[in-house]
Amino acid sequence: MSAPAPDLPDVRARARAAFLGLALGDALGATVEFMTPGEIRAAHGVHRDITGGGWLRLRRGQVTDDTEMSLWLARAMDAADGWELRGAADALAGWLRSGPMDAGNTVRRGLRRYLVEGTLQGPESAGDAGNGAAMRMVPIALATLGDEALLRRVAIEQAWITHHHPLSDTACVHVGALVQLACLAASKAQLRRASEGFAAEHPAFAFEPYRGLATGYVVDTLQTVLHFFHTTRGFEECLVAVVNQGGDADTTGAIAGAIAGAFYGEEALPRRWVRALAPPLVAELGALAERMVALSPLGRGVV
Ligand code: MN
Ligand code: MN
Repeated sequence: MSAPAPDLPDVRARARAAFLGLALGDALGATVEFMTPGEIRAAHGVHRDITGGGWLRLRRGQVTDDTEMSLWLARAMDAADGWELRGAADALAGWLRSGPMDAGNTVRRGLRRYLVEGTLQGPESAGDAGNGAAMRMVPIALATLGDEALLRRVAIEQAWITHHHPLSDTACVHVGALVQLACLAASKAQLRRASEGFAAEHPAFAFEPYRGLATGYVVDTLQTVLHFFHTTRGFEECLVAVVNQGGDADTTGAIAGAIAGAFYGEEALPRRWVRALAPPLVAELGALAERMVALSPLGRGVV
C-alpha cells in the first residue's frame, strides 16, 4: 500500500510554521532560560508572552543562537542550491565571527577548531552531548524531505562540525524525523509511535515518566520536548508547558516550537507571539522554509 502523494502547498505551509515555530519558542523561552520552575513561578506566574529580558537582556521578540544558527545554515543551503558541508561550516563560522550575543561552549570550541584547522569534524568527545546541534535541525529536516537516509547523513554531518557524540547524533536525527513527519501531515499517533520507537532503540531518551530535567544535555532537552509535545493538545499549550520547565528554555522551546509548529500548522501560531517578532525575520523564515522544501527530494519531485 503506498502512502497518498503529499500535498505540496500544505507541506510548504507546515514548513513555514516549523521555522517560525522555532523562532517563537526561542524568543518565548529565552526570557526564562536558566531559571528553575519555582523561580519562573515567583517572577512570572505562568510565563506565556514574548517579553524579552532574561539573562541576555533581550529586546522583546529578539531570538538567540538557536534561531540564528538555523538561519545561517538555511542561507548557506539557499546560496549553494542544497546541502554542502563546507559551506555549512563556513556559514556557522561566519555566524560566530559576526559576534552573536550568545554561543554555547561546545559550538564555540567546534567552530574555533574549524577556523584554525579547517577540519569538518572533531574527534568523538564525551563533552559533546549538548543540544547545540539538535537545535539547528529545522533547515536540514526541510531540505531532506522525502529521503530518510539523506536526513540521517546530513543531520550527522552538520552535527559533527561542532558536536561529535552518539546521543547528539541520534537526537538530531529524531528531531529531524519528527519535523518531517509533521510536515507530511502525520497524525499525533504516528508521531508518538516514532518517538516511542526512538526511545525503545535508545533507552537513555525514554521520556515517560518524565524526570523533569530541562538542561542543555541533549537527553534532558529531548525528554522535555517529547514529554510535553506528546501530552499537550495545541501549539501554545505545548510551548508554555515546555518553557515553564525552565533550564535551557529557549532551546527546548525552539525544538518543541519547530515540531509543534509543523504539526499544528500556521493558524495555530499565536498572533500575539508572531507580532512580537521583527517582520523581516518572519518574512525570511517563511521564504527560507519554502526554499528548503523546494531543494528537497520531495520538492524536486525525485521521490
Ligand atoms: Mn539560545
Ligand atoms: Mn539555550
